[in-house]
Amino acid sequence: VHTVAQRMAWLAEIDTVMLDCDGVLWRGSAAIEGAAEAITALRRAGKRVVFVTNNSTKSRASYVHKVEETLGVKAAEEEILCSAHATAAYLQRRGVRGRVYVVGERGLCEELRAVGLETLGEEDGRIPFEASRFREEVDVPKDVVAVVVGLDTEVSYRKVAIAACLARRGPGVVFVATNKDVTFPGKDDLVLPGAGSVVAMVEAAAMRTVDATLGKPAQDMLDLADEAMTLDRSRTLMVGDRLDTDIAFGRRGGLRTLLVLTGVTSRAVAEALPKDEAPDHVLESIADILPLLA
Ligand SMILES: [Mg+2]
Repeated sequence: VHTVAQRMAWLAEIDTVMLDCDGVLWRGSAAIEGAAEAITALRRAGKRVVFVTNNSTKSRASYVHKVEETLGVKAAEEEILCSAHATAAYLQRRGVRGRVYVVGERGLCEELRAVGLETLGEEDGRIPFEASRFREEVDVPKDVVAVVVGLDTEVSYRKVAIAACLARRGPGVVFVATNKDVTFPGKDDLVLPGAGSVVAMVEAAAMRTVDATLGKPAQDMLDLADEAMTLDRSRTLMVGDRLDTDIAFGRRGGLRTLLVLTGVTSRAVAEALPKDEAPDHVLESIADILPLLA
């Protein structure tokens, strides 16, 4: 148990605050109460705020809009770390050039095209599947060098079949997942499949596991942050609602960690954690950071 004074002293040592988005700042399209005020107060206290998200359906540019629209606070593209961008950067680093088959949404395609890749597959979710012509229906494109899988709310039999056929060709086709979050936090007993569920389907059909997963807890987004901004990891705080992604990401990267309970993790779960998995601090909500900023 920490006193308010201890928490204030701890926060005073932080100069960059990385915020997970869904479950920390908003839930779907509804802002979490006090989140906007917390961001403003952090900035006023001289801290750099960075938005970190595993959601690959949006590009950095669309996240800027989402932050402004949902919270009414300004954000710059350089302040956004998202798995769509991390995926594009990964392919670029591996020297992948040419045509990429995407099971994913527009924002992911935008980031891939921004590094010079040609994206295929966007339309495939909308073409009805003619089951009577089962074997003739799937037209596998030629000269594809990579398959990228993320969350796709238009995922279809055709898309999965094409992606799996391509991935099965072996190591000559780079096979990556934007992230592996299996579900989204839903209301009550509502289960909303996340990218991890889509990835699992393609992996099963391809009989191959992805070469890389770019979202948290993988360190790629942190490495990108290191390149883009001067980051003192010991003075950087990762705030999240998920232990296996956000808190693991922070711990692995040598960051300080703060768990908030406005998303998927309950206090009971947080308190039962062994020391080597526990966050440094737990707060009910990001809004509770306000009184700690002197
Ligand atoms: Mg979250």
